Amino acid sequence: MKRCNVVRVLFSKEQAKVLETLGNRCAALWNAANFRCRQAFLKGEPVPSYAALCSEFKEHPAYKALPSDIAQEVLKKLRKAWDSFFACLRLWKKGKLEKRPGLPRYWKDRRTGKRLVRLIPVKSPRSYSLDARALSLTLPADLREKHGGRLVLCTKGVLRFHGQPKTLELRYDPVRKRWYAHQVVEVPEPARPARPEKHAAVDLGARVLVALAIEGLDRQLLFSAREVIKDFLYWTNQIAGEQLKLNRTGKKTSRKLRRFYQLRARRLRHAFVALAAEIVRILKRFCVTTLFIEDLTGIREDMDFGPKNILVHNFWAFRMLRNLIEAACARAGIKVVPMEPRGTSSRCAVCGHPVRRPVRHKAVCEKCGKLWHADANAALNILLQGSSKGHGAEATPQKPLAYRWNRHRWVSRFESAAGTLKAASGSRTAA
Ligand SMILES: [Zn+2]
Repeated sequence: MKRCNVVRVLFSKEQAKVLETLGNRCAALWNAANFRCRQAFLKGEPVPSYAALCSEFKEHPAYKALPSDIAQEVLKKLRKAWDSFFACLRLWKKGKLEKRPGLPRYWKDRRTGKRLVRLIPVKSPRSYSLDARALSLTLPADLREKHGGRLVLCTKGVLRFHGQPKTLELRYDPVRKRWYAHQVVEVPEPARPARPEKHAAVDLGARVLVALAIEGLDRQLLFSAREVIKDFLYWTNQIAGEQLKLNRTGKKTSRKLRRFYQLRARRLRHAFVALAAEIVRILKRFCVTTLFIEDLTGIREDMDFGPKNILVHNFWAFRMLRNLIEAACARAGIKVVPMEPRGTSSRCAVCGHPVRRPVRHKAVCEKCGKLWHADANAALNILLQGSSKGHGAEATPQKPLAYRWNRHRWVSRFESAAGTLKAASGSRTAA
């Protein structure tokens, strides 16, 4: 299984220049090879393969200006970009994409026409070494003498995964003006101890991000979207304010604006990563082996749109949350099974009769009269769909346990009550 270590790379002024030179040369090679591919595509000829590109560009000055391990990797990346372009094109032809995908672009600023320094890919650990303190990199022949053979940069961050090192990418973040190293590591699959089958199910939504039902547990867990959306809205307003300011001066974008976009996305992702981790922690505690997850294709029809529809317009947010939950489960050795959402929120989880929805978040069974939290009911229904054993929550539904995001971690109602109590008593003693 492949994992990725990300660390920040620190540099002196002189080293920054070297990185920029390298990045610029990568862009030069990318653009030259991409021009060749685009011409071939537009003329209706086959786009050259990776091997063809390598042999064709071997004598090219842009190729020769780079160490071969970097130059080859640039060409490989370009070919991959073309592969995904063709994959998108096939989807578009089947009518599964709204817009026709664009050709792989040049690494070039459209306005100024200058080359963009984006990334420096390094093929194999033959040409680099990365440990907890430093990253060392081979240099092209003409730079070698001046810098003593190799470029040695200090790193900041933790290498989370250990295993066989594969390729490495140095990426430039133009908003933060920082370089980051992304290292791929081949990690051995964790051995899974044989455990008895136990099931759980999650339902994704806009007001309650995740409703979690676990087999044999008589109360469901709900993760509220409230704080997450509040934070998202705050940064959306900041973005709007900055855009207004830019409009007045006639500009389109600024570094500050891009920074706000980045912050908003990162803060959302932080909440989601923590949510996925919390879910997996709970699943492990209850020794769950299989998680049923609602398929997202139906989410729009059956969805509570939430305040200002904010996360639905940003539909990718749900895909991201789902992917993060899946990835976290994979790491913990929990199987994830996607389920078709078939009226999961319109039937009673105990007797299967239709439910009434007096208010959005409540569901009342018309036959047995049970009062459900709508999302908890949906999660139980998904669990029922997937598991033949039933969910073991046939008794009167208990009030579900609510979790909220405190911008640091997900806390349950009890925990947060205890926290405020402690804080209150603490402040009293301090006073
Ligand atoms: Zn019922």
